Amino acid sequence: MTHILVVEDEEALADTIRYGLEREGYEVSIAPDGRAALQRFRADRPALVILDLMLPELSGLDVCRAIRAESDVPIVIVTAKDAEADKVSGLEIGADDYVTKPFSVRELVSRVRAHLRRVEMGEGSTGSDRALRAGPVELDPDRHEVRVRGELVPLPPKEFALLEILVRLKGRLLRRDHLIAEVWGADYFGDTKTLDVHMKRLRQKVEEDPHRPTHLLTVRGLGYRLVD
Ligand code: CA
Repeated sequence: MTHILVVEDEEALADTIRYGLEREGYEVSIAPDGRAALQRFRADRPALVILDLMLPELSGLDVCRAIRAESDVPIVIVTAKDAEADKVSGLEIGADDYVTKPFSVRELVSRVRAHLRRVEMGEGSTGSDRALRAGPVELDPDRHEVRVRGELVPLPPKEFALLEILVRLKGRLLRRDHLIAEVWGADYFGDTKTLDVHMKRLRQKVEEDPHRPTHLLTVRGLGYRLVD
């Protein structure tokens, strides 16, 4: 059975989440604080972690960082409505997704299912095993080839380099300064608009509707992330 760890100190909410997940056939354990969360994580090795950020003992962000240091397990963070900064920090330190309180359990369960499916597909993928995948993009670093929805798309070197980072770190928030340093070099003194121009070109090639992107997302004021 697929095991999910729910880290939540509000007992009633934890029970509601547990019920929603168990009904879908998942096995659930609950940790009521940050320390218990890490103990449970190491003992149970869950397939996914749902993590409230406001916790006693150890903060949710500390728990997220500690789990991420030892595992690629999908982490869905739960944040309060007014805690925009926490949400961003959570994504920055490696959470895969977030839901904002109050949320519907149905919504949470569907996110959980989507993340677990992504992991399964990643493990069981066939075809070119060198290709990296994210959303409609298949990128083969060795052959320097990119396919979007199966069609070969020629990319100039900088666009390729940018897309490769986004695909390799799929789901993660990538800060502007990080992307610029990776693609143009740490000593790049040019206009930072260059990054936006390249992202715009990538969107035109990757997105079905470049004006309403669903894969190459802007995290306002911070950077970009690529999602399935
Ligand atoms: Ca809480």
